[in-house]
Amino acid sequence: MYKTLEAHIRQQVAPAALRAEFRQHEFEAMRRFCLLIFCVGIAIWLVFDLIVSYLGGQGFTWRSGAFIALLGCLTVVLGFTRKSPHFDVLNLLFVTVLTLAMRLVIEGIPIVLRPVWLVLGVSTVLYTVSVLPVRRWSFFCALGITWIMLNPFFHTRIHALDLEGAMLISYALCLSGLVTYSYLRIRQAKLHNFYLTKVLLEQAYVDALTEIPNRRSFMAKAERQLQLGAPGQFLAMIDIDNFKRVNDSFGHDIGDEVLKRVAGHIKAAMSGFEIARLGGEEFAIFFQGLDDGAAEQQVAALCQRVREDYNEHPVTISIGLTRIDCGDTLSAALVRADQALYAAKHAGKDRFVLWQAQVITP
Ligand code: GH3
Ligand code: MG
Ligand code: MG
Repeated sequence: MYKTLEAHIRQQVAPAALRAEFRQHEFEAMRRFCLLIFCVGIAIWLVFDLIVSYLGGQGFTWRSGAFIALLGCLTVVLGFTRKSPHFDVLNLLFVTVLTLAMRLVIEGIPIVLRPVWLVLGVSTVLYTVSVLPVRRWSFFCALGITWIMLNPFFHTRIHALDLEGAMLISYALCLSGLVTYSYLRIRQAKLHNFYLTKVLLEQAYVDALTEIPNRRSFMAKAERQLQLGAPGQFLAMIDIDNFKRVNDSFGHDIGDEVLKRVAGHIKAAMSGFEIARLGGEEFAIFFQGLDDGAAEQQVAALCQRVREDYNEHPVTISIGLTRIDCGDTLSAALVRADQALYAAKHAGKDRFVLWQAQVITP
């Protein structure tokens, strides 16, 4: 069953907006890793440069200093980069500067040793780029730049038609193919996981019929608000009046339409507050930043809005409202709101009742 559902969701192509969200999410999750890769890249290059400079007898030139400064600047810029498209460009700049620096260092070693170091350089850079959170165009540009900068046929004694040259070409094709394949597969697997997690989370926290948050979502959000303890918190429980009659008279489908309509009114009237369908024909609202008068005004306006919706199948709602005091628990507030709702039903429906200890008898 799980496999069938997973396959069904995987078959749906992730929309463009979701892909953009995925790329941003991926970059944010891997930003520190990218910084580490940039720093390690500089460190390895520096060690290599120092070895070639001193053992090769060239000394540390101004060019080495310039490259260090440039790569350092790009790393600092990465520290301030927050958007994934900017990283696509920044990474390309880094790859360009680093491979150019590598080429110049390798030019300083004996010509017979160059091909092996050039190929080692290409392999390291390409493998690293394949695990970074970059878009396809950026990856393929990095692939091209790396092979151009560290071309093992340039300034070496290898020719494409020699035995060594032919072997090198087959290695280059094999390496590029493998790196591209693993890059594409890893990206696709990560995108699918992101999509799957998002879809499942949405299904777990959104009511399928009314498309507003469900009980699970409400309990989690209201609990968090309660703990933050902002002033002026209220809880309202809403129940559609005589809803069974709607179902019995017009059928379940019309009942569903009425539920959607009422949910739409709650959503439109209560933007900025936490709302949910608790189950059946019951809804809840968590208010904050209101005084008694303002909270009563909000729920009275909601009753009126539903009452004055002159639809083919009109309904009314009853609301139980309770203030949430310091040290209150969510379950205690829900019990009080339910008691107030019960009182509203008994008082004739289509109204709200604010819970008060002396009025409500459990
Ligand atoms: P009261 O005014 O006292 O609230 O009366 P009521 O008829 O609304 O109360 P009751 O709780 O008896 O009826 C709730 C009905 O809601 C019963 C159930 O069949 C129906 N119901 C629950 N969930 C759904 C749903 O998802 N769709 C539809 N169409 N009906 C539902
Ligand atoms: Mg009910
Ligand atoms: Mg009801």
